[in-house]
Amino acid sequence: MNNTPRITIAIDGFSSCGKSTMAKELAHRIGYIYIDSGAMYRAVTLYCLDNHLITDNHIDREALARAIDSIKITFVTNPATHKQETYLNGVCVEKEIRTMRVSQSVSVVSQIDFVREALVAQQRAMGHAKGIVMDGRDIGTAVFPDAELKIFVTASARVRAERRAAEMEDADIDSIERNITMRDEMDMTREISPLRKAHDAIELDNSHMTIAQQDAWLEEQYNKVIERLKS
Ligand code: C5P
Repeated sequence: MNNTPRITIAIDGFSSCGKSTMAKELAHRIGYIYIDSGAMYRAVTLYCLDNHLITDNHIDREALARAIDSIKITFVTNPATHKQETYLNGVCVEKEIRTMRVSQSVSVVSQIDFVREALVAQQRAMGHAKGIVMDGRDIGTAVFPDAELKIFVTASARVRAERRAAEMEDADIDSIERNITMRDEMDMTREISPLRKAHDAIELDNSHMTIAQQDAWLEEQYNKVIERLKS
């Protein structure tokens, strides 16, 4: 019988700093569930935009409060690509939630108390059996404060904008950089569960690391925790 303990892994940090790339890879290697909590906030934002609940970055909170329990977010692995995709009320929205239209409003939606309560409850349910890697902004501080491994990732805003631009068609690096800087500011200064490093998180600045180097670094941190728990 495999006696390797199953743990909870929280990966937080700034926008577009490669959290999900490293989280996904580690989850795949060690056979854990991977959850992109940002995709959940993005899906709620897409719902708001598509249902005209946002005008000029102003949200109709009452209408959203009425709708929140009917917004169902799920993750499904695409059998052709083996990639996990986000579904909103049964419809694949993986592409739409990554657009600038959603990026521009998501930090306004993620400040709302009842949105956070609803999503955090779902995130905790997903992680109740451990064996999960979740990335986001408040995973180590609010969602899973008892996670055995917490990582806080940073990288310079320019490096992050360049990486994000490389994944997009017709990307304008300056507007991407403005967007990630704006979201970082809003995420760090909001009242509820602001983005901050948990006191027991290990910090990683990956500005000058390759993906392979950061994957190796993360696996090393995981192995250290497992060794400690086994001894
Ligand atoms: O990770 P990603 O950049 O896709 O997240 C989009 C936005 O969702 C963040 O800028 C933040 O406002 C919000 N978010 C959050 N808490 C999380 C994950 C994301 O508030 N755990």
